[in-house]
Amino acid sequence: MNSVGRLQAIKQAIQKCQEESALAAKEIKLIAVSKTHPASSIIPLIEAGQKAFGENRVQEAADKWPAIREQYPDIELHLIGSLQTNKVKEALSLFDVIQTVDRPSLVDAFIKESRKTGAVRCRTFYVQVNTGEEAQKGGVKPGDLKSLMDYINTTGLYIVGLMCVPPVNVPSAPHFALLYELAREFNLPELSMGMSGDYETAIRLGATNIRIGTALFGKRLT
Ligand SMILES: *Cc1c(COP(=O)(O)O)cnc(C)c1O
Repeated sequence: MNSVGRLQAIKQAIQKCQEESALAAKEIKLIAVSKTHPASSIIPLIEAGQKAFGENRVQEAADKWPAIREQYPDIELHLIGSLQTNKVKEALSLFDVIQTVDRPSLVDAFIKESRKTGAVRCRTFYVQVNTGEEAQKGGVKPGDLKSLMDYINTTGLYIVGLMCVPPVNVPSAPHFALLYELAREFNLPELSMGMSGDYETAIRLGATNIRIGTALFGKRLT
């Protein structure tokens, strides 16, 4: 099966999960995670109707997406990898959605940069939560989410939801359930959770965005 066939199969699986679970969101956005894959692999999916894509590195997105976008202006690009403050300016001009807000210094950099330049594409942000409290992983620890949200609320940055990447090799469901509870607590409508191996679980637990790479594109090129 090629990537367009896999896209259709994943869409069917999404629909089936929606029908089977009372907690499933009515509308689920499939984000095609195109990191490491060239434009020649991305374009067939765009031609098949796919609009939302995810990249985890600013530099790679800057190399790849402006040319694709010239041809297909309708794309919605999500940053799903951690962001250094010195890349904020570029990230705000490249991405429509940044899913990895996780610290006050980054919030400050967004605010400062969007005041400075009018040319900001990104107006939608998610807070990333490090549900597994892993040292090497981005995201705010669940216990620190309240103070980060309190801070963000003083700045006017528009947070629509929460995002998480659970630890590998453990069941994802408890992490998704925690993210769901946190989103309810802070009144945030969007939940970005679930990847190739666990998106069906994520949908059953209320995901509104799923981020799928391998199951769409095949193995990543490194
Ligand atoms: C790479 C990546 C994905 C996609 O992972 P797959 O297992 O290939 O579907 C999703 N989310 C984030 C944050 C990623 O870095």
